[in-house]
Amino acid sequence: AAKEQGRDCFKVFTNKMLDQAVMLMTMEQEMRRGVQGDEFFLVFQPFVHLHTSELVGFEALVRWRHPTRGLMPPGAFIALAEETGAIIDLGSMVLHKACAAWVAWAEQWPAVRNTLMSVNISGRQFSQFGFLDSIRTVLEKTGMPPERLKLEITETAIMEDAESSAEKLSRIKEMGIALSIDDFGTGYSSMSYLQRFPLDNLKIDLSFIRLMHVSQENMEIVRAIINLAHTLGMEVVAEGVEDASQRRTLQELNCEYAQGYFYARPMPDDEMRAFLAGLDQEHPVVTPLALAAAD
Ligand code: C2E
Ligand code: MG
Ligand code: MG
Ligand code: MG
Repeated sequence: AAKEQGRDCFKVFTNKMLDQAVMLMTMEQEMRRGVQGDEFFLVFQPFVHLHTSELVGFEALVRWRHPTRGLMPPGAFIALAEETGAIIDLGSMVLHKACAAWVAWAEQWPAVRNTLMSVNISGRQFSQFGFLDSIRTVLEKTGMPPERLKLEITETAIMEDAESSAEKLSRIKEMGIALSIDDFGTGYSSMSYLQRFPLDNLKIDLSFIRLMHVSQENMEIVRAIINLAHTLGMEVVAEGVEDASQRRTLQELNCEYAQGYFYARPMPDDEMRAFLAGLDQEHPVVTPLALAAAD
């Protein structure tokens, strides 16, 4: 009986593994087809000066309009794309679309010309041989000025191979591109490396912003992160700012920039165009959504 049972366990185990392998292969195929078939598109979320609410830039965030599964957020496919390597093609496509969008907007709206387009780069994409060349190609093809591009690389991805990251980040910096460390506080950072990386700013993960008003301790963590960034010569972007009290606290903590639903949600290209058209082109101040709704 024990033998029977053992065999059953084995069977269950292999079936489950097989299911997973099939699922992985299906998703991988669907993703490759999706990149070819233009099923991926970008939404853009503005970020602003915390003190003036003036527009500083946009973060490009990818979405997948799957033919049968519907609209999928990056949380549902980025990890898999990393695992299968599909992230390389997907990532190039994202970079290309983001730069092309910025160039098209800047032609039409003067307010855009001083802004940044910020693009998320996955670990595998960053460590890929030929990453720098792929950026150069996109800049050339789209006409995107390198000074207007910003790359967001997660703390985890940068720290994975800190020595070669430092080298690569310096080369990107030399091209004139701005650099952000993303999701700060969710991974592990080596302080000695952090100061050697040529990073322009640090993005505090939204989980910290959310907890800030839950306890004094969480607030002190946010304060410590901001002070650390400033000590290392970086400016700080708070992500996930959802209300006026979070904004007030972050202002008091001398955080420079904010991004979140309080100001604007991520928007597809057509909504972005309406948003841009509604701005004062000389002083593009973003009216918080909550305040606009209260009018
Ligand atoms: P992230 O880079 O930290 O991006 C911020 C996430 O917070 C976005 O989720 C954004 O929609 C969400 N967010 C912004 N403001 C608020 C707010 O006020 N409240 C709340 N609750 N959420 C807010 P999204 O678009 O689902 O993206 C999730 C993650 O997926 C991103 O986190 C990023 O790590 C990754 N990702 C997105 N697009 C790309 C991409 O093109 N390439 C790569 N490699 N990763 C991407
Ligand atoms: Mg990001
Ligand atoms: Mg982030
Ligand atoms: Mg995050």
